[in-house]
Amino acid sequence: MSASNIPVERADFDKVIVPTFAPAAFIPVRGLGSRVWDQGGRELVDLTSGIAVNALGHAHPALIEALTEQAGKLWHISNIFTNEPALRLATKLVAATFAERVFFANSGAEANEAAFKLARRYAHNLYGPEKYEIISALNSFHGRTLFTVTIGGQAKYSDGFGPKIQGITHVPYNDLAALKAVISDKTCAVVLEPIQGEGGVLPAERAYLEGARELCDANNALLIFDEVQCGMGRSGSLFAYMDYGVTPDILTSAKGLGGGFPIGAMLTTEAAAKQFSVGVHGTTFGGNPLACAVAERVLDIVNTPEILQGVKARHERFKSHLNTLNERYGIFTQIRGAGLLIGCVLADAWKGRAKDFFDAAEKEALMILQAGPDVLRFTPSLTIDEADIDEGMMRFERAVARVVNG
Ligand SMILES: *Cc1c(COP(=O)(O)O)cnc(C)c1O
Repeated sequence: MSASNIPVERADFDKVIVPTFAPAAFIPVRGLGSRVWDQGGRELVDLTSGIAVNALGHAHPALIEALTEQAGKLWHISNIFTNEPALRLATKLVAATFAERVFFANSGAEANEAAFKLARRYAHNLYGPEKYEIISALNSFHGRTLFTVTIGGQAKYSDGFGPKIQGITHVPYNDLAALKAVISDKTCAVVLEPIQGEGGVLPAERAYLEGARELCDANNALLIFDEVQCGMGRSGSLFAYMDYGVTPDILTSAKGLGGGFPIGAMLTTEAAAKQFSVGVHGTTFGGNPLACAVAERVLDIVNTPEILQGVKARHERFKSHLNTLNERYGIFTQIRGAGLLIGCVLADAWKGRAKDFFDAAEKEALMILQAGPDVLRFTPSLTIDEADIDEGMMRFERAVARVVNG
């Protein structure tokens, strides 16, 4: 019955996979909670959760149940037909947020692609073809399709692919005057991450998001929040906009939404949604029953006071460990972020060396992340045990000592 299992090793990556990634030397084969085991049986502490994806850790029993139960019923049916898990998930997302309508996709980039297309279509329909400019922030990250890399604020991801999509302006993040200087009646949308993730775990200031909201309203532009990384409980609220009290017109979610199963979603208002009529946008896999059944269960679990307050408590536990460590080693100038999206900014002496800390952590059987060359990032499971935090931080201290002591 079972397929023949040919032996594979890390070296095969460099032979058979397109070289867009440079994965670590070990190959994870199994995970449970915040622990991962590699091919050789080595146990690692996982403070990455697949880049803020496995919101409930690895192999959560409720998610296995949701997935396998749905797997026995209906995997895929296409959007020529609707399905119960998609309708249930959308109903719950609408009940839990500002949104009145949901569009399902399979990734963050696709959710953003839908958001950007909707913003342009909305402006086109209501104000005419001249209103298509989109303003986004420098250092922002919105995905890897051509539209999303062009809107993302890192030229290294968008250069070298031929002509870019026109009408996109980048401004410094957290700089309201800069936004005010470029927004106009030609602007159809302003796109922001309430907490920049890839750009260095940089939270927005409240006044910045409030000001962006006002500027959008004054210019008939939609405000889009990309909460692909900072949403779904990661900030300690269901979505980070709730922490700020600033409501967007469109919000995108992915990563943690599926708890490890690929899914993306664009949430929006009735007024915006109705500018997308039948056939204007679409997807084959978006809203498939398997992904939606799992995400529904993730949402049920994450959107509870126990989990969300637990995220805030875990934030404090991480922070106290990191502060203690920093008193000893003085390697960070700032420990920032919210909930379980935590960034440690390297001091001048260690600037550009985030990868060295990542490598040292691996040697100590610890999985951490970078957010650029100058920031170490922690995005553990929202339900990580206190003991795993403590063990992870002990290993992290040993990794730091390795780097500091050369
Ligand atoms: C990861 C990420 C994306 C892209 O998501 P994919 O699922 O990789 O397409 C978009 N926006 C933000 C803020 C992200 O962190």
